[in-house]
Amino acid sequence: MSGDTIFGKIIRREIPANIVYEDDLCIAFRDIAPQAPVHILVIPKKPIPSLADITAEDKEVLGHMLLIIQQIADQEGLTEKGYRVVTNIGTEGGQTVFHLHFHLMGGRAMHWPPG
Ligand code: 5GP
Repeated sequence: MSGDTIFGKIIRREIPANIVYEDDLCIAFRDIAPQAPVHILVIPKKPIPSLADITAEDKEVLGHMLLIIQQIADQEGLTEKGYRVVTNIGTEGGQTVFHLHFHLMGGRAMHWPPG
């Protein structure tokens, strides 16, 4: 069941996380293995496996999450210098947790292309 990922457990408070934001639709917490000084994961509470699985029904939650990412980036002091938002999709996309999440990373210069 897609709700039974490690992120489902974080939503249900079955395992701890450093939560920086939560509302009815989404939750944001610090990545356990940060790849930048600021590395936050923003996830929907609905257990959508990845961006490949979204439907028109998810338009509201996805738009909402992008606004929340913008808000958290502001709170973390990232807006002036810039930051990166990434979502990995499937095995070749580098996805390891199959509950949709956006990585919000900042606090250092990012490189392109990513590996
Ligand atoms: P993906 O590789 O699927 O795009 O990203 C999964 C992310 O989840 C990784 O950056 C990984 O460090 C993070 N992660 C995996 N398990 C946990 C956990 O238990 N707690 C937190 N906070 N992050 C996790």
